[in-house]
Amino acid sequence: MDGDSVSATANWVGPRKLLRRLRDVMAGPGDAQERLDKIAKLIAADLVAEVCSIYVRRAGDVLELFATEGLKPGAVHNTRLRVGEGIVGAIAADSRPMALAEANKHPNFAYRPETGEEIYTSMMGVPILRGGRMLGVLAIQNRTRRHYTDEEVETLETVSMVVAEMVVGGELVGAAEQNPADGIGLKPLRLEGIRLNGGLALGRAVLHRPEIPVGRTVAEDAEVEKQRLETALDSMHRRLDDMLAAADAEGPGDHIDILKTYRMFAKDKGWIRRIVENIDNGLTAEGAVVRVQDDTRARMKKVDDAYLRERLLDLEDLAFRLLQHLSGETGAGKNLPEDTILIARNLGPADLLDYDRAHLRALILEEGSSTSHVAIVAKALQIPVVGRVKNVLDRVEPMDSILVDGGNALCYIRPGDEVLSAFQTSMRLFEEKRAAYLAAKDLPSVTRDGVDITLMMNAGLLIDMVHLHATGAAGIGLYRTEVPFMVRSDFPDTPTQADLYRKIIDQAEGKPITFRTLDIGGDKVLPYFQEAQEENPAMGWRAIRIAIDRPGLLRGQLRALIQASSGRPLRVMFPMIANTDEFVQARAMLDKELGRAAQRGMTLPERIEIGAMLEVPSLIYQLDTLGPKADFVSIGSNDLLQFLFASDRGNPRLDGRYDSLSAPVLNVIRDIVRRSEAAGLELSVCGEMAGNPLDALALIGLGVRRLSMSPANIGPVRDAVRGADTQRLADFTETLTRRTDRSLRQAMADFARDHGIPV
Ligand code: PEP
Ligand code: MG
Repeated sequence: MDGDSVSATANWVGPRKLLRRLRDVMAGPGDAQERLDKIAKLIAADLVAEVCSIYVRRAGDVLELFATEGLKPGAVHNTRLRVGEGIVGAIAADSRPMALAEANKHPNFAYRPETGEEIYTSMMGVPILRGGRMLGVLAIQNRTRRHYTDEEVETLETVSMVVAEMVVGGELVGAAEQNPADGIGLKPLRLEGIRLNGGLALGRAVLHRPEIPVGRTVAEDAEVEKQRLETALDSMHRRLDDMLAAADAEGPGDHIDILKTYRMFAKDKGWIRRIVENIDNGLTAEGAVVRVQDDTRARMKKVDDAYLRERLLDLEDLAFRLLQHLSGETGAGKNLPEDTILIARNLGPADLLDYDRAHLRALILEEGSSTSHVAIVAKALQIPVVGRVKNVLDRVEPMDSILVDGGNALCYIRPGDEVLSAFQTSMRLFEEKRAAYLAAKDLPSVTRDGVDITLMMNAGLLIDMVHLHATGAAGIGLYRTEVPFMVRSDFPDTPTQADLYRKIIDQAEGKPITFRTLDIGGDKVLPYFQEAQEENPAMGWRAIRIAIDRPGLLRGQLRALIQASSGRPLRVMFPMIANTDEFVQARAMLDKELGRAAQRGMTLPERIEIGAMLEVPSLIYQLDTLGPKADFVSIGSNDLLQFLFASDRGNPRLDGRYDSLSAPVLNVIRDIVRRSEAAGLELSVCGEMAGNPLDALALIGLGVRRLSMSPANIGPVRDAVRGADTQRLADFTETLTRRTDRSLRQAMADFARDHGIPV
């Protein structure tokens, strides 16, 4: 510590006593302003600061000085800062505390002459938070340079909860002003986000986790509060056990793993200990939970790591549940309106399953990413989801009418009559089409000139399997085995994997399934398997490269697949193969596992077919050497195109820059068709291209006869197939391969229209 620092904590009495005194002030005589003034005085004295100031957020993102001890009294209700302006504004904008020994050297420092604060050197401030909303800032200042300790920051944060209580009580600014929004209640809004799951929905807004009134935050008796906490924890654990039992009874599914992990977090010792510590510091059980929840939120803002974020989200979620149990309000998911559009900042794994699925039409999130658990589960449940919709919670009122267009990542809030009726028409058409596709699911997928096109489905979760029969798909052309790994909290052992694969094979009822071995790395993050950050993860240590370096992973998975297929046919596909040698090495592992199984007298698969994903361009020029070693290849157009165009598939700034329907892509695929034919390899396409009817037509024109796609695309692609003539398509596609247009999408659409092909 510097020599000129003062040891300010000599007569510090700790938060408990201070909280008691503040409580007495709150309950004592005087109007709100008088009590706030006393609070500022008490805090300054207790923390040995010359200044204590309380800023309250007002409409228009302004922070108004509401009370001060130490600054010039004339500044009260006159000094106003924008959120983000000055140090106080920065604390508010980031909702994070700041402790600055030399505040005047901070880049945000901007003093207001009317306050007389220029003589103070050090400053510590904390946001006043409640339910994730920033309500103001509480700050202290010292004239002599002072290093504030972490305990002091903690104390100020705890104390800020008392001020939060006054603000939400509506004593300082009216309740209406505390919910600033952009003129909501009247204006229709169109909000954009990112697509997490397609589909259309129309319904009424339900805000996830309407705030639970916390009530008292300062405790009378810590022991009583601890007892209350224990009772609430018990009842929460019981409720989670019930949920798990109910989910188990409904049948198998990966969401059960998610739920199990969640329940494990509910018993997290560190989390419970932090709550108890806050009770020991003088807060009520509710106050302590909220305090820990605010901390979690603050940590989440700083964390980029997907795994940690998911875990913090789980904890935040649990805090909310615990508050419900403390308040006795545990009716989550009950009494939902008929057509519910659920709006949340983010949702935890159990949350979505907690809502009545029969009423849930769509989900809108302020956060969320395609790998988040909620997106994976919503996809499996076929609920449209739009993610990263900025400030949607502030812009929507409960029961507002909302339209969700998941495919285009758009939400229309309080839509006008015209938008509504256009949307209703699209929804009706969408439903009619869906019904028509369902009715046509058993029609053969054959072109007008009698060529069979095999349409298969891509899957990744057990819940996806229901679509196999509902779509009439011929089988699963790509089972992404990493997906069930992604929703778990730890690496599943071989028996667990075998159990899962057995269920998948059982549910396919004899239809073939191509299991792709673990494709992790790149955009597919396993929370518990994170190596050092890479500069170029898409081109980094991923998929088969990991499998070759860590043979235990792949061998365990192959063993599980062999066990699961037991006497039935098995198709295995290796991802990201860049040269024949990698394939040979992976295949050798499979052979070893087969030998091992035979040695132990296990029933071997009736027949084994082994293939490679064609995602890396280098493999195109090795199809001849791959031919004798493999049975099939499947073009993963998502990765192949990202490498072909050197264009990151996950970078939104590159969206739409290159088109799969363009001459270079068509030429490459034509080349692959010829080379795989010559090598005797069965060929399919299982990337996004296969599921877009226009792309599918081009692929058929180039000679591809097997396509695998997401379930929703099978109906439209079947329609296109049945309307097409392969010879005409081949002639037309050949002309496209010589065109220079950036995109040939319109040309293919015109061709389809002219030839009566429904697309
Ligand atoms: C692909 O790359 O096209 C593919 C099907 O695999 P994934 O999308 O899982 O990378
Ligand atoms: Mg891929």
